[in-house]
Amino acid sequence: MATILIAEDEQAISVLLKYNLEKVGYDTICVAHGNRVLSAVEKNVPSLILLDWMLPEISGLELCKIIRNNPDWKNIPIIMLTAKGQEEDKVAGLSAGADDYVTKPFSVPELLARIKTNLRRSTNIASSIKKEYVFQDIVLKTVEKKVFRGENYVQLGPTEFRILQLLISNPHQVFSRDEVLKTVWGQSIYVEPRTVDVHIRRLRKALNEFGPDYIRTIRATGYSLDDHQVEE
Ligand code: CA
Repeated sequence: MATILIAEDEQAISVLLKYNLEKVGYDTICVAHGNRVLSAVEKNVPSLILLDWMLPEISGLELCKIIRNNPDWKNIPIIMLTAKGQEEDKVAGLSAGADDYVTKPFSVPELLARIKTNLRRSTNIASSIKKEYVFQDIVLKTVEKKVFRGENYVQLGPTEFRILQLLISNPHQVFSRDEVLKTVWGQSIYVEPRTVDVHIRRLRKALNEFGPDYIRTIRATGYSLDDHQVEE
């Protein structure tokens, strides 16, 4: 069943939401402070977030932007809750990346209907993303963010994981350092091309502890995941 994070500092509303959501079968997590929201999401990625606009310490609007900028969290549906009904707030909320917007006082049945719609939409997105990639004995699980070689769990840093995901989703295809940089770090961040080599070295070291080296280095070109013996 879906887990819904309730980020709301007014206890009466938080209790009301928790009661009604659990009554229809959702699991809930409640936080009342802006600065607890991110750690709660980190600990247990929710299926949907009900995010109050006016939270102490960090506003709901700021949190919404932070969550949207995180590649792991950007698809979590966010419904903003607010006492303000003004049109400009609604626009600000939606442009910060909220999926929906509910003005207090809200009707519980209406909110439940919106939650259902937003969850259905995000399930459709999630099911279009491949859950698992396999190459020889290497298995990369996109949801759990885990990599295995045979029975062995391979411990990877987040950057190494993303590089492997790129390579394993397109085996035998050669990626230049620039392509790896753009895909893994994004267009906007400047990273030295040599940084790619450092992370590839770490990825190799972690993977090869449990089996043969399938990462191919093509001199002056880039990298690929390949099981054919090729001269370098
Ligand atoms: Ca509030």
